[in-house]
Formats: sequence, C-alpha cells, structure tokens
Amino acid sequence: MNTNRLLANLNPEQREAVTLPTGPALVLAGAGSGKTRVLVHRIAWRIETEDTPPQSVLAVTFTNKAAREMRARVLTLVGPRAQSMWLGTFHSMAYRILSRHAREAGLRPDFTILDEDDQRRLIRQLIRERQWDEREFPPALAQWYINQKKDAGMRASQVPDGVGREDRALRDLYQGYEMKLRSLGAADFAELLFCCHDLWQKQPALLESYQARFREILVDEFQDTNTLQYLWFRTLTGTSGNPFVVGDDDQAIYGWRGGRVEHVLRFPKDFEGTRVIRLEQNYRSSGAILSAANALIAHNPSRLGKTLWTASETGERPVYFTADDELEEADYIVTRIQQALSGGQPAGTIAILYRSNAQSRVIEESLVRHEIAYRIYGGVRFFERSEIKDTLAYLRLMTDPENDSAFERVFNVPTRGLGDRTFERVREHARQEGRSLAASALAIAQPKAVSADRSARALRGFLELLADMREAIRPLNLAGQVERVIALSRLAEFYQTDDPLRAETRIESLAELVNAAAGYEPDPEMESTPAEFSGLMAFLGQMALATEPESRPGKSDEIQLMSLHAAKGLEFHTVFITGLEEGLLPHSRATETAGGLEEERRLFYVGITRAERQLYLTRARRRRLHGHYIDTLPSRFLLEIPADQLESGEPRIVTRTARSRVQHRFPNTDPGLPVTIGQRVRHPRFGEGVVLSHEGSGDHCRIHVRFEGSGAKWLLWDQAHLETLES
Ligand code: ATP
Ligand code: MG
Repeated sequence: MNTNRLLANLNPEQREAVTLPTGPALVLAGAGSGKTRVLVHRIAWRIETEDTPPQSVLAVTFTNKAAREMRARVLTLVGPRAQSMWLGTFHSMAYRILSRHAREAGLRPDFTILDEDDQRRLIRQLIRERQWDEREFPPALAQWYINQKKDAGMRASQVPDGVGREDRALRDLYQGYEMKLRSLGAADFAELLFCCHDLWQKQPALLESYQARFREILVDEFQDTNTLQYLWFRTLTGTSGNPFVVGDDDQAIYGWRGGRVEHVLRFPKDFEGTRVIRLEQNYRSSGAILSAANALIAHNPSRLGKTLWTASETGERPVYFTADDELEEADYIVTRIQQALSGGQPAGTIAILYRSNAQSRVIEESLVRHEIAYRIYGGVRFFERSEIKDTLAYLRLMTDPENDSAFERVFNVPTRGLGDRTFERVREHARQEGRSLAASALAIAQPKAVSADRSARALRGFLELLADMREAIRPLNLAGQVERVIALSRLAEFYQTDDPLRAETRIESLAELVNAAAGYEPDPEMESTPAEFSGLMAFLGQMALATEPESRPGKSDEIQLMSLHAAKGLEFHTVFITGLEEGLLPHSRATETAGGLEEERRLFYVGITRAERQLYLTRARRRRLHGHYIDTLPSRFLLEIPADQLESGEPRIVTRTARSRVQHRFPNTDPGLPVTIGQRVRHPRFGEGVVLSHEGSGDHCRIHVRFEGSGAKWLLWDQAHLETLES
C-alpha cells in the first residue's frame, strides 16, 4: 500500500502526530482541527507501515454512532483486514472482555446488563427492604449517589466516612446494592468497567495477556473521560503500551457526569515521555463562525489556551434572531429550512440543536406541519422505549428464566389478572427462600388446595406461556424467535387496548426490533458458548449497549435534531442553536457554580463549532414553561460575542394565518379534538382514508390517517383540508 496516500491529506502537524514513533502521545487541539481524522490515520499508519496486526489495536470513542463512523473510515484506508481491530465505546470494550471471563469476574456466564431503569428498580427495592422513607431517600437520588461513586472509581468500602446520618445511610445502601448485584451475577453500566478492572487486579497474568495483545490504545474525546474510565484505560495500557489520546479541554462537557478534564493534564505525568502535539488550523468552519466561537470561549478563565485559525473564507456571519415566543422561533427555523431545501440543500446537512430535550416538541410540530422529514437523536432512545423493553424482557426470560428484573417487568404485561398483591406474595416467598421470582412463582402456583385461587391459576398460565414460548422458538432463527415471542406474548394487542393513540408507533417499534434481529451480525470477537439460544443471548447483550437500532442508518433526507451534548464530534453545513436564554443556556441548574457556568459556555462552544458554513442562533422573548408563559432574558453568552460579528435575522418573516382557522368540524365528545377515531375522510391529494389517531388539540392537532391508496400519513389538521364522509 502506498503510505504516501495515507499522509497526503494531512498538514505537517497532523502528519507528525500520525507518524510519531511508539510511546505515549497526546494531541491537544481545538474543534475541527482534525483530531478524529488524525486518530483514524494513526490506526491506519500503524497497521500499514509498522506491521502492527489489526487485532492489537483498541480504539475508544464516546458513542456507538461515532464508533461506527470511525470504523468505516479505517476500513476505507486499510481494507477489510482492519475488521479485527477493537473499536467501540468504553462500555462495549469492557463488555467484550468480561464476556470471556464472566465466571472469573463473579458474573453469570450470560449476565444481564442492568440499564438505568432496572438499576433504579433494584435500588427502590433495597430502600423498601430497609423500610426507609422514599421521600427522604428518593431512589433517583440514591441512584445518582451510587453512580457518581462508581464513576469516581470508588467501591462502597472505599467511600470515606461521611459526617451526617444521610451520608452513612447512602453508603450503606451502596454496599447493599453491591451485594445484590453480586448475588444476581449482573452488572450495571459502570460495573462493566469496574468488574473488568477488579478482575485484572485479581489476576495479573490475565491483565498481562491483554496488555501484550493491545499494543496500540487510542482514545478520542479524551477530555470527557471519567475517573473509572481513566483507571481502566491506564491499567490496560500499563507501562509499555502505546497510548494515543486526542482531546480538547474547551469541549469538556461531561463534568456533571463525572468527566474530568484534569486527565488531560495528568496524562503526561502518568505516562513518562509523552509527546504533546497541538493542532491549530480549523478545517471545518468558515472564518466568521470561527471568530464567534473564539470570542465566546475566550471568556472562560481556566483554559489551557490555544487559538484556532482557518484558511477558509470569512463567509456569512452567524445570524441572530429573537422571536416573540417559542412557536415563532420554531416557525422561523422551519422557514429558513424550507428556503435551504428549495435551494437544493440536502436535509441531512442541517441540524437543529437544543440544550434540553423538551425543547424539541414545538420544533417537531412545526416540521410536521410543513411535512419536513426529520430524525431525532437522543430523546427517548429506541432501547429505552417501554414496548422494546417489554419485548426484550420476554426474550431475556427465554435465555435466562430466573431473571428477576425481566420477570417483574412482564409479570402483568399484558394484563393477566396478576396484581400487586400476588407479586408481593411471590417476592416475599423469593426473599424467604432465597430463590428467584420465577422459582417462587412456580412454587406458589402448584395446583394444591389453592387451585381454586384465581391468581394461582393466572400465575400458572403465565409460567406455561413462558415455557410454551421457549419450546416454540427453539427451532427458529434469530429474527423468527423475536417475531414469535412478540406474537405469543400478545403485546401488540395489549398496546392496542391499553393506549390506542400510541399503539401504531409502538407496533412499528416492534417491527423495527425484528428488523434489527434480522440484520444482526454477531460480534466475531465475543466468546460464544455453544449454549442453547446462544445467538439470542449475544443479541440481547449487544442490545443492552446499543443506542440506535442498526437497521436504521441515518438517512440523508432528514433534518437532524439533537441535544448539544449529542452533537459532540459531528459536523453539519447549517446549524441552528435554539433557546439562547438565561435559564436554558446557560441552564439554570448550572449557573450556581463558576465551574458549571464554564461548562455551559463550553457546551455552547461545541454547538457553534459544529457549523461549517451557516449558523443561526435563536431565542424567544417569552417561553411557555410548565404551562405558563414567562418572559426571558437573552443568554449572557450572546453578549460575549461582539455585536459586529453577528447578523440580525429578519424579524417577523413568519405568517401565522394557518393558526386562526378551524375548530370543530365533526361532532365529537371531546371538545378539544376536531376528529374522531374511525372517521372516514377525503384528502384532495391522497383520496379516501380512515382516521387512526390524533395528537394535540385545536389547530395544532395532528391526525394520523390511513389512506387507501397511499398508506398511513400524519397530517396537520388545519392544513390538510380534509372532508368528512359518511362511515
Ligand atoms: P472535534 O473537536 O469537533 O471533534 P476534530 O478535531 O476531531 O473536531 P475532525 O472531525 O477530525 O476534527 O476534522 C474536522 C473536519 O476537517 C473534517 O471534515 C475533516 O475531514 C477536515 N479536515 C481535517 N484535517 C484536514 C486536512 N488536513 N485537510 C482537509 N480537511 C481536513
Ligand atoms: Mg473529533
């Protein structure tokens, strides 16, 4: 392979970083200066020129999405043999290792990964067992406490003696939680790293074997690593590995979750002989956008300090627009987007960013009204949707019948006459006998004298259902198994009656899960025990760490919506940053401490530096909060960008005629809703159809209609010009 090709599109500093001899290296550089690009080329360089086998490379990024993109880029440079490198998030890398040594690490061979919900449920149970007052010890607070300690790399026994009663109680709860996890043989997210690290401590020979294997360890977004991640990374690297880390202290935005930018400073001390390389040329943004970013971040007192420059043309100044309220803000954005789209700009090059996920709703409504396709990243993530979790719980019970958390989740979902009382009975039995919920349920359901007992019968029905399912799916392939479990569980029918308005979307998610199973490719690096349902088992493990179903890659014809946090590392031609108001950005929670305020400024900086050519900054004079309008103040950060660097957006280009029309056209029991479900309607373009559901009320109402010719569509009531028909 022509190694010159590898270096051709790099500037001299980037080239220096890519071709550094072995030994620790730190690339400390600003946004858009090519850090990620350097990291990708470094991997390729080591493989191509130094004959480093790809399987000795381990590279870590922060999200699955970033990992996918990075892998694709390395493969383009090196070819398919790079497949065998390890590249993923900290969690997924630790999971791979643990899955090979689960038993030695004190986990079950097919251990469950508890997500945040499962974790909270477990913590609530511990609080109840102690008969503590949940108002005094809210499970969410205890969960935050435990995770914070874990992210700081502290076991309960290492937490220093607190002064207050509450401190001691929380520590005691943490200890109880640790014991509980151990007895279940399960792991929460932090535990993946922690357990792996403990295992290495216990078995130095094992650690040495991994150290010998992974000669090249690379980390992107290094400024956001928390203590536990750093510990894991440092231990694995040892004294003779080649750590190569890239980061930007100005983009540290995870302090609130334990991220420690100090690791950047500590790195050269922990790794003797570290070479530090700085990159100062920004290749992403136009001059005007970069100037605004530089002016803003200069207000942060504690910085390592670097100046970014660009050879790109100045371009258009960022546009600043003040709307009357959040509806007008959304309409302004959508109007601008329509202009861009009609000029031929691909939708996928446009991003709308916000500080808090709740801001997206109004923007979404405006996009829907104008029939503009969009995709949200974050929000309620696919695998956190309740219907997906219900299904995964059933699947989990197939591979692990004794899984308490899955058993509890679907105990009475769909409803089968198993109430809280029965559940408590089962739980009590389990506690006394020290057995799983499933085993206790079986004991209670035995047809003895109690066979007349309705709940015992229902319980038996449930257990039989699970057993039948297990039999039914045995011969099927993975997608078939998922599909059959969904069918036999009757979840779809349940959603239909439980919440008809949302049923359609939920059923679509289930179909999406079947697609994900069909497209699932087992991780070749995972140790696969030839156990029954081992394919399903591996799929479930992968699902626990995923954020997006793999079957749905980003489309280029959708506007991208996401929080500022989720936008890290990405780039877009056009970026809108919304809600530039005191209380939102900076967020009210963060303004109490100087450190918090600086982190918010960095977050805004991350947002600005995502933009390549066009940047819009918007705010609303008043915004509805908890149902009431409150007047807002412009974000202090706006005032930190010199006024002559911003362009004022045209005020009032938005018409609001559409809003005043229409109220009730059909007779309806709910005066807020203009349609009834099942109503037959005719649309001028799509023809005849039936109303499936609706959302919202009045002129903001959206209607879901299934048209005979063209399928189901969401329409905006006040623009759809629907005619009602006799049913
Ligand atoms: P961030 O801090 O936002 O993560 P980064 O430092 O990782 O940014 P990259 O994403 O690697 O920056 O690069 C930013 C953009 O600049 C990318 O589109 C990349 O392809 C381009 N780029 C980087 N270096 C060069 C170069 N030498 N020549 C041309 N384009 C470059
Ligand atoms: Mg990057």
